[in-house]
Amino acid sequence: MRPFLQVLFLIPVLLLSTGKATYAKDNLRVEHLPKVVKQGEVCLIRALGPASLKSIYGEFQGERFPIAVGAKNGTYEGFIGIDMSTRPARYEIKVVATDGGSRVYSSALSLKVEKVDFGIQKLSLPSSMVDLDAKTLERVNKEARQLKALFQAFRDERLWRGAFIRPVEGEISAPFGLSRIINGQHRSPHTGIDLRAEEGTPVLACNSGMVVLVDQLFFSGKSVILDHGWGLYSMYFHLSEALVKEGDRISTGAMLGRVGSTGRSTRPHLHWGIRINGARVDPLSLLKIGIHPIF
Ligand SMILES: [Zn+2]
Repeated sequence: MRPFLQVLFLIPVLLLSTGKATYAKDNLRVEHLPKVVKQGEVCLIRALGPASLKSIYGEFQGERFPIAVGAKNGTYEGFIGIDMSTRPARYEIKVVATDGGSRVYSSALSLKVEKVDFGIQKLSLPSSMVDLDAKTLERVNKEARQLKALFQAFRDERLWRGAFIRPVEGEISAPFGLSRIINGQHRSPHTGIDLRAEEGTPVLACNSGMVVLVDQLFFSGKSVILDHGWGLYSMYFHLSEALVKEGDRISTGAMLGRVGSTGRSTRPHLHWGIRINGARVDPLSLLKIGIHPIF
């Protein structure tokens, strides 16, 4: 084929592909909430498109995250967790959808992650809780591996429904993200929030889910962890007692146990933590997000 004929042959193909891309872009709009996302926050991704979409997912930092399907009004929503250590920068979030046939919709948005100064907490604790002997260290490492494996498991089913609630009332005695200096040494940061409460105060499930861990751990004491599906986990530490068992399906507000001071703790409080696909996020950011009625 002569060169100019090759070019002529290509034109309709280019028009076709350009036309399709434009169509898809016009029919899938994506936005995120809040508008300014900080390190350690939950981000809600909302897509507006045809009501007929059969599958839809997002991509952030090379990982897929699920987006709710089945909205009658063509609104689709999903969460991403911005880990507390995510580098402050601009990121691209891609949303891909199909109508069950050959048509693929795709849209992208730019997400700016802002830096947070989490602050520093200085603590004095008995050296038996800080300077660990070999046997205790082995136990601590084993428990850390166990939790890591737990958070890596991804449940396709979404168990949570509607808005998230606070597991206990009470002031925040230690906020999320604090760098910690314990007995003069740098230690791991605070990856949840501490809520002050009387010993024995009921601890409630922040949303519906399945109990995936009830155990006595070295640092977190009597602990309960819920799997809410779609990579979202909530954890409740330092309990005086747990009132649920692994495998229980529970609903929002169900009583999981009671506030205590077990593990590495100096007074009764609830440590409440959230993971989203492994990202360590501030539970308060989950409470702040307006949950759309389709959830
Ligand atoms: Zn804590």
